[in-house]
Amino acid sequence: MSEKITFAPISYTGWGALSHLLEEIKRFNAEKILIVTDPFLKDIGLTNQVVNPLQQAGYKTEIYTDVVPEPPLAIGEKLVAYTRDNQFDMVIGVGGGSALDLAKLAGVLATHKGNVADYLNLTGTLQITEKGLPTVLIPTTSGTGSEITNISVLSLETTKDVVTHDNLLADVAIVDPALTISLPPKVTAATGVDALTHAVEAYISKNASPVSDALALQAIRLISNSIRTAVAHGDDKQARIDMSYGSYLAGLAFFNAGVAGVHALAYPLGGQFHLAHGDSNAVLLPYVMGYIRQSCEKRMKDIYDAMGFSSTNLSQEEASYKCVAELKRLVEDVNIPSSLKGFNIPKEALEGLTNDGIEQRRILARSPMPLSKADIYTIYKAAYDGI
Ligand code: NAD
Repeated sequence: MSEKITFAPISYTGWGALSHLLEEIKRFNAEKILIVTDPFLKDIGLTNQVVNPLQQAGYKTEIYTDVVPEPPLAIGEKLVAYTRDNQFDMVIGVGGGSALDLAKLAGVLATHKGNVADYLNLTGTLQITEKGLPTVLIPTTSGTGSEITNISVLSLETTKDVVTHDNLLADVAIVDPALTISLPPKVTAATGVDALTHAVEAYISKNASPVSDALALQAIRLISNSIRTAVAHGDDKQARIDMSYGSYLAGLAFFNAGVAGVHALAYPLGGQFHLAHGDSNAVLLPYVMGYIRQSCEKRMKDIYDAMGFSSTNLSQEEASYKCVAELKRLVEDVNIPSSLKGFNIPKEALEGLTNDGIEQRRILARSPMPLSKADIYTIYKAAYDGI
């Protein structure tokens, strides 16, 4: 078997990486730049860390803040229309996955016709053909890996869908952990477990390769080692650095190997109950992994070791059970409710969630254990009860 490996875009990583912004922008000959960010980040002055140097260097900038977490399709349609109407030369996304997903969508669809809905994976009918405007993505959360993937996620009425094409890959990603210091504990926890889930699912994916394995295991090491500190002590520089690298590596891992059952079941939770993406993944992670454990015991033993434990005296089966228990403990330690009940999801919702979960066939296809509708219901039920 062979696979396509993608390591785009050019990336600057590490504390202070933002200082490379201007030298990168120069090569695009842009005059008028659209900055896509969210209103909170503008209010706390974080967006200005990007905008001020651009303005001082003489660039014309426009800050667009009609961005909400888990952006619905309508927000994407509005931004794309605005970008087409206002003739920008390039787009910079500053924020969490929500702002970055919208920025890359705006950059590409600025040079296309039709609605965003026409390009959605499950129901769209149009293909992306053009490269679009140059795009720089600057994450302020350590979670989604959006800065290095070719995916833009949008919330629909009952689930989520994606626009995906290699033209959505940014030209430059700048991953500066200093921009994450202001993340509150709750967002640090949810986005951090999101990144961990990317790495775990990439590692057990049917599309995993030696390349994605290396990325995923290092991401699991960094995140498992530092997430508790990052949540409890947000100003801990080393913990923030580890989380940023962990999220970046996990993004590269899942971009190449794909995600699987946790994400397939998380999308309906986000769509129907507007749970933050990280929370949806976190609450399902131990239950999906517990259910499919038998199909990937060896891989779960490796994950257990990467989480900082030793499986030397354990059988694969024993280590895989312990791995599930440690994943659950980690979610609890960062104060994320470990059951659907804890998120006030009613029991009556489980059937509807199951109906939407089974529709995520492309994602489910990467699960090492095939998941039927009955399996999916059983997993949601276990996650509901918290057992
Ligand atoms: P987010 O972008 O929705 O942000 C969550 C909250 O954190 C917001 O209120 C924001 O204002 C705040 N915030 C962000 N950075 C901050 C900072 N430095 N300090 C203080 N507050 C800050 O959260 P997210 O989890 O990064 O992104 C979620 C979105 O990304 C979802 O729509 C999800 O589906 C999508 N996603 C995309 C990909 C991809 O590959 N494109 C992968 C996974 C998830």
